[in-house]
Amino acid sequence: MTAKRFNACEVAVIGAGPYGMSVAAHLRRAGVSTRVFGVPMAFWRNHMPKGMRLRSPWRATDLSDPDGTLSLDAFAERHSVDRDKPLALENFVAYGEWFQGNALPDIDRRPVRLVEETGSGFQIELVDGDIFAVHRLVVATGLANQDYRPREFHDLPATLVSHAGEHTDFAPMQGKHVAVIGRGQSACESAALLAEAGADVELVSRGEVHWLGSAESHRMTASARLRQALAAPSAVGPFPLSWLVEVPDLVRHLPFELRQRFGTRCLRAAASGWLKPRFAKVKCDAGRTIVGARADADRIVLELDTGPRTFDHVVLGTGYRIDISRIGILSPQLLSKIARAGGSPLLRSEFESSVPRLHFVGSYAVASFGPLLRFVAGTAYAARAVTRATLDGGATHSVAEFSAPSR
Ligand SMILES: Cc1cc2nc3c(=O)[nH]c(=O)nc-3n(C[C@H](O)[C@H](O)[C@H](O)COP(=O)(O)OP(=O)(O)OC[C@H]3O[C@@H](n4cnc5c(N)ncnc54)[C@H](O)[C@@H]3O)c2cc1C
Repeated sequence: MTAKRFNACEVAVIGAGPYGMSVAAHLRRAGVSTRVFGVPMAFWRNHMPKGMRLRSPWRATDLSDPDGTLSLDAFAERHSVDRDKPLALENFVAYGEWFQGNALPDIDRRPVRLVEETGSGFQIELVDGDIFAVHRLVVATGLANQDYRPREFHDLPATLVSHAGEHTDFAPMQGKHVAVIGRGQSACESAALLAEAGADVELVSRGEVHWLGSAESHRMTASARLRQALAAPSAVGPFPLSWLVEVPDLVRHLPFELRQRFGTRCLRAAASGWLKPRFAKVKCDAGRTIVGARADADRIVLELDTGPRTFDHVVLGTGYRIDISRIGILSPQLLSKIARAGGSPLLRSEFESSVPRLHFVGSYAVASFGPLLRFVAGTAYAARAVTRATLDGGATHSVAEFSAPSR
């Protein structure tokens, strides 16, 4: 057995996606000794399908570096990336890797296995047994293990049911009769890509698909043009709510129930208008309720409110639900100290949880700071806030700040 090595640094960031890398770039620039764990852009490379394009507008897709020199524009210019189309997945992954190579060349790619609280901070154990002692910790593990699978599908084998996040290539589905459940961007883009891969696809959803914008700008109605002109930079949520989304600190001060309603409204299932022309071969069965699902030999039967339907495979485009107990690396003792609403940590102004010097960024912060934190557009705000907290040395909150919201 190899001996464990013990190391120390001031701040550790777990996760090397857009949030982890942006936070670490700002901390390093501020002179803070920071170590980043994780494989850069791994979620985007391993959990999204070939052929996917980003829904977020170009201007809202920068990772944040303190000097502003590592923008998507700077990358695109150097690598001749076409700005006229929605950004392709492979270009965004390449952009993230370019950002990492420039801002964080010494990233530690080893996965973290366990995080425990110590008297002076945290102990991080890596999968190979190495141990790090850190004073402050930033959890930026993104949507890892947060996929949502409706109860009806829990006991069915992976050959019959998969989550959209399990696919990087739909080519193996050629010739199969596939149902996609859902009507958000991921469900609709999966359906379009499945059809293009030669599958016979049906989108089964509770309601009609809500298309955002138009496929072609010259065909826009006057009201669609007006909506586009008034849209906030990140284009998250409808006007005028989209402008409130841009100010996470204000969102954090909304009463809890109102904040949840605001988030739900702004993150309503919808798909980009540019996907619509690619739906010619996708059948849509809207207004359906799924009552149950069962295996029938090597096929799957969906029990719908209108009766049973048989498919070769079901792809769940049912999205993600945050539950920090499912990240799988926080010790039970540490988890028990983190004040939560549902599965999300309750965070104070600088993304700090009820455990001093333990921060959560990205989707984990949506319940506290609103929908911007679900998107790359929130990286600058989060990176500056965590850096501020680190430089201030803060852990000044009272327990009352984190009392669970009344229901
Ligand atoms: C299908 C789909 C399409 C999307 N499209 C857009 C879009 O167009 N625009 C947009 O802004 N957002 C989009 N999003 C949201 C997107 O996930 C977030 O914007 C972004 O990825 C959040 O970055 P992150 O750094 O928080 O997490 P992630 O990108 O998920 O990165 C998490 C990192 O943590 C690492 N990690 C996890 N566990 C461990 C561990 N134990 N040890 C070490 N490292 C670990 C992973 O390897 C990964 O590097 C989309 C999401 C999905 C699912």
